Amino acid sequence: MKKVLLVYAPFCTPASPPYSITQLYSFLKGNCKVDVSVLDLNLEFHNLKFSEYQQYYHNSTKWQEYNKITTEYRNVTSKVYSDNNTLIVKGEKPELFEELVQKIKDQKPDIVAFSIVYSSQAFYAYSLIKELTKFDITTVIGGPAINDKLMSVADTTLQNELELLNYLKGKDVNHDEINFNTVPDFSIYNVKDYYTPQPVIPIRTSSTCYYKQCTFCSHFSTVPYHEFSLDVIKKTIINSNQKKFFIIDDMIPSKRLLDIAAILKPLGVQWTCQLKPTADFDHKTLKTLHESGLTMIIWGVESGSDRVLQVMKKGTIKKYVETVLKNSHNVGIKNVVYIMFGFPTETENEFIETIDFLEKNKMNIDLISTSIFGLQKGTYIYTNPEEFGITKIIEEERTVLDPRIRYETSIGLSQKEVRSFVKKYKHTIDTINKYPRMMNYFREHMLCL
Ligand code: SF4
Repeated sequence: MKKVLLVYAPFCTPASPPYSITQLYSFLKGNCKVDVSVLDLNLEFHNLKFSEYQQYYHNSTKWQEYNKITTEYRNVTSKVYSDNNTLIVKGEKPELFEELVQKIKDQKPDIVAFSIVYSSQAFYAYSLIKELTKFDITTVIGGPAINDKLMSVADTTLQNELELLNYLKGKDVNHDEINFNTVPDFSIYNVKDYYTPQPVIPIRTSSTCYYKQCTFCSHFSTVPYHEFSLDVIKKTIINSNQKKFFIIDDMIPSKRLLDIAAILKPLGVQWTCQLKPTADFDHKTLKTLHESGLTMIIWGVESGSDRVLQVMKKGTIKKYVETVLKNSHNVGIKNVVYIMFGFPTETENEFIETIDFLEKNKMNIDLISTSIFGLQKGTYIYTNPEEFGITKIIEEERTVLDPRIRYETSIGLSQKEVRSFVKKYKHTIDTINKYPRMMNYFREHMLCL
């Protein structure tokens, strides 16, 4: 029997066990006789390199030092990630390479399948794949952040768990014979090793976003929307034997969320999710959600300007956003708001309108997570740049990652001006935050306070 090892590569934040390889593991176990196991090399790297921070986050009673320690953690880890990526680009081995390769070899796999969820994992995965080919180990890659460079070194690229199953069985499996309701099994990890005071388990409840219209978003890609069985979600939670859950879907409709809340309420768990602030999240709905254990919502607000929301095709307006945040706060839910500055055509006045919006609603905001717009392939704006005043797109080749995309615009703030405004208003934003600003780096910690 072939031995398959599912690997999660460095580098990303080791806040919780990886959902992707857990789901793959359970799907394969439930559908074929293959000998399969998982290895979170991202966690292994961090435990070898940053164990003092692991201790802090495990015991964290000193939350007053949180911003200082997490800023330090972020600076230290960012430098290590960057230095190692540079080594890989130069064709040299990254830190702890022999140790991590040995951890793979110890499992004596015939096939190693890498799940690449973040582009920050591409570098280390690239050097691991190149190394494994020397030992007659077949390498397979998949996941949302795979790129041409990784595909050029891996033996096979697969789109999803079904393709992996077909690949392992050597034939297209009849759909009627497949069990799609396998339950992700988080007991395969020592969940207490992750960098949180209590384990936080990631749960996915659907295949992608149902809305699929925001002009800047590539998350939904070409994946069809379907909802996972409520029974599987419930069993995943019960089997994990944990009490804190991060629903990682990009977006969930309110009606479906109420169905999920109904199964979570009797389980006495705490949970969080990401939502779009639309009018259907009224007081009654949010109260029901809170009573089921929903303690924090990460809202995709993006802008405080109705015109910008409209060109983003966000499907909501400022008036609704304000009401939703107020209702959510009033029922006892913590509100984290995503803000995206510098969407093409955004003017200085519209930038300031967003700052005014945040100040006006600060009573109902617990943490602000800001980003600056970046143009990405696979988005509506990338394929229709002229509609957004984008006059030129420049792609710069990179060694391991896909090309870096820059653009020039004829309307609104330039990228340089946006960066300068963000710097100018940083203090204003910081004073609105009621949680340490650095919790944006580890949102799982907000569930553990
Ligand atoms: S930004 Fe969110 S709501 Fe909009 S399409 Fe993307 S995932 Fe869906």
